Amino acid sequence: MDSERSARARVVLEGLSVGDAFGELSAYASDRVRHRVEMGIVGGPWWWTDDTAMALGIMECLEREGCIREEMLAGIFARNFKRDPDRGYGNMAARILQRIGEGQSWEVASKAAFNGGSMGNGAAMRVAPLGAWFADDLDRVASEAMKSARVTHWHPEGIAGAIAVAVAAACAWRTRELGAVEAREVIAKEVLQRTPEGDTRDGIAVAVGLEPLLSPEVVGRRLGNGSLVTSPDTVPFVIWSALRSLDDFQEAIIATVEAGGDCDTNAAMVGGIIAARLGMSAIPAEWLEAREGLPL
Ligand SMILES: [Mg+2]
Repeated sequence: MDSERSARARVVLEGLSVGDAFGELSAYASDRVRHRVEMGIVGGPWWWTDDTAMALGIMECLEREGCIREEMLAGIFARNFKRDPDRGYGNMAARILQRIGEGQSWEVASKAAFNGGSMGNGAAMRVAPLGAWFADDLDRVASEAMKSARVTHWHPEGIAGAIAVAVAAACAWRTRELGAVEAREVIAKEVLQRTPEGDTRDGIAVAVGLEPLLSPEVVGRRLGNGSLVTSPDTVPFVIWSALRSLDDFQEAIIATVEAGGDCDTNAAMVGGIIAARLGMSAIPAEWLEAREGLPL
């Protein structure tokens, strides 16, 4: 059973990390990303960032324990940060992971961030593989996502963003046999139902009502494009963008990057969700090849 869970979570990790690396590479010219892809892609390696590093940590915990053990996950995150700190971690994340690495309890470190916990988008950026892992049980997706989040993001908004993205990835896998229109409805409904109340959820409620035909830049301006690096400023746009391009991995990533903002993180989340639905074959082979390898 766990080997099936692991296999589908790894596919999602691949989608996440390709989105992460592509988004990072394209962030400096996000408004021209479509043109650059059409002109022929730049060569690799596309370096992945903290989004992938932390998703790898979640995978390691799941593969060792079959669930999230917060103490263990905190230790894995801190160890990976110490080994390889230059992956673009945010300042607060770096501080939390350093404290955990020095022996402080994750709970103390996580609660102390911003005096009450971080509402950053960092818990959501790494969680899509967990959604795939527990995809046959949505209650479990939400509870495990919550545990994975609060190791570094104690604030309810930080946790809500992680639950939303995990549920979206789980539902993307669950509805993979349905057409996009039907799948979109199911994903939107479950994400709204299972995301705790607050600004992130309010933003998602607006996002799922917005036309897929709108331009990503317009929607990014309206919902937030992650430039504040908080969950409410990031996750609603991500849900809109994933729902917009459910059947096309490459289009989903390009459109997500076009909105600017936190390009690597936005594209990591969208890439994870879309890979859950479409599988490995939907990720362009040359993109996979260009991305720096994963230490799996
Ligand atoms: Mg990053």
